[in-house]
Amino acid sequence: MKKHILPGETIGILGGGQLGRMMAISAKEMGFRVAVLDPKADNPCAQVSDHAILTDYDDPNGAKQLADETSVITYEFENVDLGTVGYLEKHAFLPQGGELLKMTKDRINEKNTISSHDIAVAPYHPVKSLNDLEEAYAEIGLPAVLKTCQGGYDGKGQYVLRTEADLDDVRPLLNGDTPFVFEKWLTFEKEISVIVTRSTQGETAVFPVAENIHRNNILHHTIVPARISDTVQKKAEALAVKLAEKIDLIGTLAVEMFLTQDGSIYVNECAPRPHNSGHFSINACITSQFRQHIRAICGWPLGSTALLKPVIMVNILGQHLQPVLDVIDQFADVHLHLYGKDEAKTDRKMGHVTILADTVDEAIEKAESLGVWKI
Ligand code: ADP
Ligand code: MG
Repeated sequence: MKKHILPGETIGILGGGQLGRMMAISAKEMGFRVAVLDPKADNPCAQVSDHAILTDYDDPNGAKQLADETSVITYEFENVDLGTVGYLEKHAFLPQGGELLKMTKDRINEKNTISSHDIAVAPYHPVKSLNDLEEAYAEIGLPAVLKTCQGGYDGKGQYVLRTEADLDDVRPLLNGDTPFVFEKWLTFEKEISVIVTRSTQGETAVFPVAENIHRNNILHHTIVPARISDTVQKKAEALAVKLAEKIDLIGTLAVEMFLTQDGSIYVNECAPRPHNSGHFSINACITSQFRQHIRAICGWPLGSTALLKPVIMVNILGQHLQPVLDVIDQFADVHLHLYGKDEAKTDRKMGHVTILADTVDEAIEKAESLGVWKI
């Protein structure tokens, strides 16, 4: 694959959310044109794109229009309709291909693939029926978590199982058709993530390890450098690069990991796209995850991922939006990113702030001084 895409050509993005928007902003800065396909009018990506195709993701006419208009196509979420992907692989240039999507779309597929490359994941067992649940419980025990295999995000579709009574609560969900995965609940020391990018030319670059703090299963803030040893840092980066190479990655892969007390790393899940835990890179790295993604799919050499300064990125969820807006005009060094979403619903990701400082502690202190969050 030798294709280079150049400024003036059009990049197509499947999905019009904030990740698409930030990809589009990078692409526009670099002089590309952008077309986005998403059914919602005035979606976050459409607001910054040249053209919006407002059809359903599985509408063949929309896919055809996107193929006809663009030199290269990417996606910003993993639940892309596979029919559309098949069409685009044939009739357009979709360098990331369909395989990566198939792997990350389904938690069991994903865990099977990761463990087939000798990378550790929490013990797991596929569950569709009551019988499967008994088998999983006998094999893995409690505490555990039952997750829907497809379509879950921000902890949606997950049931933490601590007691036998919790098992009773999930039995009615098992109708024999919906696939779930039963996973051992790990006691971890930290959650970390590594974003790795691989270009159409086979070049690989990895972002600094991010330390992620979740609240109610939603990413609350990310700290970089992660407060881990150099050995763990190197191990986490090497693991992400190994996985990227094993699966012949093209584009971006975010690898979420659990670090346990004894220094072991387990992969939790992967996303085949830029990731919330990489938003720090927009202000804090020489090349952001979004620019890097555009470079990768356009066949350009990858940029340096070096960190400019210690940084914290804090998400602005619906409930944080007004409190942030009330004080933001008093802070010179708090970089505000808003996604252009209309309704500030509770827990909806509306934007984020990024704060660089000389140390991680100072960055945390500055973030707390807004009076919106306790870090
Ligand atoms: P989502 O697709 O919703 O992000 P995840 O599998 O990443 O789903 O789970 C969300 C969060 O729930 C994780 O970031 C972690 O905090 C917690 N979690 C998930 N699985 C486990 C597990 N096996 N052990 C401990 N914590 C877990
Ligand atoms: Mg996750």
